[in-house]
Amino acid sequence: MGLMAGKRGIVFGVANELSIAWGIAQQLHAAGATLAFTYLNEALEKRVRPLAESVDADLILPCDLSRDEDIDQVFAEVEKQWGSLDFVVHAVAFANRDDLKNPFSQTRRENFLLAMDISAYTLVAVTRGAAPLMKQGGSIVTLTYLGSQRAVPSYNVMGVAKAALEASTRYLAAELGERGIRVNALSAGPIKTLASSAVSGMKEKLKMMDERAPLRRTVSQDEVGKSALYLLSDLASGVTGEVHYVDAGFNFVVA
Ligand code: NAD
Repeated sequence: MGLMAGKRGIVFGVANELSIAWGIAQQLHAAGATLAFTYLNEALEKRVRPLAESVDADLILPCDLSRDEDIDQVFAEVEKQWGSLDFVVHAVAFANRDDLKNPFSQTRRENFLLAMDISAYTLVAVTRGAAPLMKQGGSIVTLTYLGSQRAVPSYNVMGVAKAALEASTRYLAAELGERGIRVNALSAGPIKTLASSAVSGMKEKLKMMDERAPLRRTVSQDEVGKSALYLLSDLASGVTGEVHYVDAGFNFVVA
């Protein structure tokens, strides 16, 4: 029997086979979890559906997290099909590409709000939908990055959104702890994905990991997946409101 046998959860944020959410989903599947997946739009459905089917997904649903009605529909469907829910993976972020390259002070109001909406607020919205279904308690994990704590070149508005995401993690954890619902953030090292390709200077960030991270490399999707598996499973039953680093130790060295 796997660590996640008998547990059911939703994974938000698979775009393709490089997605961190996919690394997490594979670990969850290997540990015996039953999974639901969402995809952002029809173009991504073509990529997500075969991946989801390869891990025997129970549900594959459309969901643009900027739309409250989409979020409502996802949880209505989960309630109808499953009746309850054990865990959620929130691995979603978006910012305008120019804002991940230009000087931070040039960020326009609507782009700032867009990054905050998709990259931070959606954790609140997803948790609000999930919590009533977590009748026996549950675990929610979101993905963050060190740019929330340090001024990382080019990360800009996304760093501000990740700071809000980490604070949201703590407030949600404080609210939901008495219902046995844990909320944690995983701060991953830089990994080549669709989203990270929008951040200017990714190559330099990866080179810096090889040179300066204690493990002299960055981490893989599988390694982030294993840390997520820990936080989503009963192994982390006493852990909530934490930012857990899975970044080859980079966060604590003097760069
Ligand atoms: P990715 O591009 O594979 O995943 C980002 C996902 O966000 C995609 O699936 C995309 O469809 C989804 N998304 C964007 N807007 C959405 C919306 N409106 N509604 C629903 N979904 C939407 O890239 P990734 O690197 O795997 O990113 C996953 C998470 O990991 C993000 O929160 C990212 O900030 C975080 N993260 C990434 C790195 C890295 O270096 N790749 C490091 C630390 C944290």
